Amino acid sequence: MTVHGVEGGDAVRATFGDREFALWQLSDTTWEGLAAVDREQAPGQASLLLSVLRQQDRQPLAALTMTVAPREYPEQHLRVQEGMVHLSPEDQERAARENRVIRKVLGRRTAERLWQTPFAMPLSGPVTSAFGVRRVYNGTPKSYHSGLDIAAPRGAPVHAAGAGTVALVGDYFYTGHTVFVDHGLGLYTAYFHLDTVAVREEQQVAAGGELGQVGSTGRSTGPHLHWGVYLSGRKADPLSLLHAFGAAGGGETP
Ligand SMILES: [Zn+2]
Repeated sequence: MTVHGVEGGDAVRATFGDREFALWQLSDTTWEGLAAVDREQAPGQASLLLSVLRQQDRQPLAALTMTVAPREYPEQHLRVQEGMVHLSPEDQERAARENRVIRKVLGRRTAERLWQTPFAMPLSGPVTSAFGVRRVYNGTPKSYHSGLDIAAPRGAPVHAAGAGTVALVGDYFYTGHTVFVDHGLGLYTAYFHLDTVAVREEQQVAAGGELGQVGSTGRSTGPHLHWGVYLSGRKADPLSLLHAFGAAGGGETP
């Protein structure tokens, strides 16, 4: 979204559903930002509230009515080791603990925008599973697919989709060797199932910088990259991030 005619203010926020999204300033009076719709949001009208922050003061700017379009998500059946579907108590505890670590990182919002150029795919290869697909593992329905799967040979380099800071590096039950990159303003990208990781936490990465190599660690059926996007802690379709800075949007082009 692009908002014109904002007089003064230190920050502009968009409240949509139970999340708040930070906009960034393009010029004296123009701000731009992204908001993510929850996958479970019912189609129909929803309101988005814009507000301006001036020091400690928050003033409403506008209330917009958005139309959430319906979207159909296909179902995908997968076979993995039984222990990856029906978890042992130890694995359950481990997965829950790791999830808390990840949610905590994703809940942080760096005040500055750290990316400059439009986001790009982290590697090239066929997309084998789209965002939002309903996953059925060994016949058991599980949560929906939270990112984009790109098939590539083991060892293929994985690149940062945009500039940022490495927020988290870990070896997790579901996601294997994992890297999260903080792009600022509550926007994060995630890279799962890596074979090796080439970065450390707090390291700055350029757009296209190498993060690691494609692997099949964690709950994975073969070498691929799972690429995830999170905005204010909400899972978003990575393809929509690419499109958000396409020819029609974005403040700059590379
Ligand atoms: Zn995936």
